[in-house]
Amino acid sequence: MTQAKGYAAKTVKAALAPFTFERRAPRDQDVAIEIKYCGICHSDIHQARDEWGGSTFPMVPGHEIAGVVTAVGSKVTKFKVGDPVGVGCMVDSCRTCAHCEQGLEQYCLGGATFTYNSMERDGKTPTYGGYSDHVVVDESFVLHMPKNLPLDAAAPLLCAGITLYSPLMHWKAGPGKKVAILGLGGLGHMGVKIAKALGAEVTVLSHSARKEADAKNLGAHHFFATSDASTFETLKNHFDLIINTVSADIDWNQYLSLLKLDGSMVVVGVPEKPNAVSAFSIIAGRKNLSGSMIGGIQETQEMLDFCGKHNITCDIEIIPIQKVNEAYERVLKSDVRYRFVIDMASLR
Ligand code: NAP
Ligand code: ZN
Ligand code: ZN
Repeated sequence: MTQAKGYAAKTVKAALAPFTFERRAPRDQDVAIEIKYCGICHSDIHQARDEWGGSTFPMVPGHEIAGVVTAVGSKVTKFKVGDPVGVGCMVDSCRTCAHCEQGLEQYCLGGATFTYNSMERDGKTPTYGGYSDHVVVDESFVLHMPKNLPLDAAAPLLCAGITLYSPLMHWKAGPGKKVAILGLGGLGHMGVKIAKALGAEVTVLSHSARKEADAKNLGAHHFFATSDASTFETLKNHFDLIINTVSADIDWNQYLSLLKLDGSMVVVGVPEKPNAVSAFSIIAGRKNLSGSMIGGIQETQEMLDFCGKHNITCDIEIIPIQKVNEAYERVLKSDVRYRFVIDMASLR
């Protein structure tokens, strides 16, 4: 066991505060990682405030982890000391079910082991996330970071990047496809960059006009504010694909009306309340309403390699860990351009 330093929510809705805890000594298949940077995902806030139910405390959030390997177990073959590496939302899964065998560990039938707010495979050891100085992870769940990308701006690829890459690939965003990214936050801004690199025609739908210039700078071809009622007339029956990243309660029926025949709206944002969808919103136009959760380990590596090749990183604002509670408040106000990343040097 080694002692780890981090920041934790000790109880539900408590402000995050310094916390020390134990990490396991590396086993044969483990990689020990010094965490350099960790992104702040809106899911960290939802879980620290128990907005989805079932949260366990104390909670050390953080699943956009970028760091450097400091030690490897005797059976590790893919990593060596000094490698730049990443860890995303998962640190293990059953590895034997039909979904794990297809590389879809995020949909593990036995339940994946998430990076925090979860239990190890023994069912009783809590996992603690990336708002901490180091982490020990089985090599099968560790990713190679592209050497040409800075670790700080690449850290959020581990959740925001893969959560958009996976549905964009699955629903075949590419040349000739009209794709809308609904909500320009941490996830949304990665969606714009990746969809553009895939060759799609990209529109940003944002709840105010404030982010128009940013959307264009990020590479979007079009921008519409959803606070303007005429947007829903102009864009009726327009999109092949809408990726809905919104974390707040909005009326999905309105957005389904923007899909073409056979179009799909894929929900990745997780609002607190259930959404009421009318049957008419999907039967008229044979529309599809789907969801998607992060991506498997192999696909996450593919996404990192894709971002390395296309030089895609996140737009970030670096903070010391002491400012994490302030950062949470700013995320809730959509006042972040476009991801906070904690510089873990502030913890040492
Ligand atoms: P974020 O940076 O806070 O972005 C959310 C965006 O939603 C905001 O930037 C804003 O975009 C829009 N929004 C916020 N409040 C709104 C309101 N009242 N009305 C309309 N739009 C509003 O959060 P994020 O980290 O990208 O995460 C987004 C959601 O995805 C969260 O619920 C998170 O838990 C979830 N998530 C899901 C997965 C998955 O695997 N499915 C993975 C990671 C995160 P505009 O200002 O442009 O309107
Ligand atoms: Zn996340
Ligand atoms: Zn499984």
